[in-house]
Amino acid sequence: MRPHHPTPEFPAHLSRLYTSFPFERSLADDPISTIRPLSTDLRRAEVAGVFGSTLAIGNTTAIRGAIERLVALADGDVALLVDPAWSKERRKALRSFRHRWIRGDQLDHLARTLSDYYAEHDSLERAFLQGWERGGFDQGLDTLSRALRGRGRSPPGYRALFPSPLEPSGSPCKRLTLFVRWMVRPGYPDLGYWNHVPTGALKVPLDQHVHWIAYHLGLTARRTRSWATVEEVSEALRRIDPIDPVRYDFVLCHTGISGDCPKERDLSVCGPCSVRPDCLLWRGRGAVA
Ligand code: SF4
Repeated sequence: MRPHHPTPEFPAHLSRLYTSFPFERSLADDPISTIRPLSTDLRRAEVAGVFGSTLAIGNTTAIRGAIERLVALADGDVALLVDPAWSKERRKALRSFRHRWIRGDQLDHLARTLSDYYAEHDSLERAFLQGWERGGFDQGLDTLSRALRGRGRSPPGYRALFPSPLEPSGSPCKRLTLFVRWMVRPGYPDLGYWNHVPTGALKVPLDQHVHWIAYHLGLTARRTRSWATVEEVSEALRRIDPIDPVRYDFVLCHTGISGDCPKERDLSVCGPCSVRPDCLLWRGRGAVA
């Protein structure tokens, strides 16, 4: 398949997709709908966001279910998870917790790492800013990843939960990038508790749905999800909206999750799609198949 570029009309088509998108329908399905009510202050937003994004593996129903199970163990208050006085009970409560390949001992270690971090700092934004001020978003994500990995021994597989874009693996770092989106963007449905990072500098949390549509709309020519792909897609969206490029992430992601996009040429579904003239599956096919 030949790489292609967005059509000149693509910004207008994307804007139409965005403005006509049924946000309320998809919000109910998104993990942020579970995280928002828990985020009553900065600390709770960060704790709910870190655990929520760490658990963001698999389908959205299972992710929301995993977050709800975790919060129920902490009597409905995520702040309890990082309360040093609750550490013994927390370890016991999390012992049998599982979500996909994520285990309770890893989440207990994350809670302990956050608890230690908050003993010295008021916000995880400081960890991000430490790198951000040195070299922008990638460095910021790297120092955030280091803070969450913590120091000393950790359970098997724990460190891999927080990859850095600076590592040779080239991980797309989807979950940590999603966490930063939630914390930075003040626009609904995000939380907007961090004030120092401009929305224009954000990079897209590249899950499989966003990657599929980004590739087919010509925002990247890369067939694999990697940090280089994240850079390309983010840059393409930044050319359309330099102030808030990542606002499109929710719509691109949920177009795939909701089934609005069948990921194949199906006129009965693709017919009303605003970006059909730009879609690789339809390019050059005119108004109908
Ligand atoms: S035209 Fe169809 S396949 Fe292409 S992005 Fe739109 S819904 Fe998806």
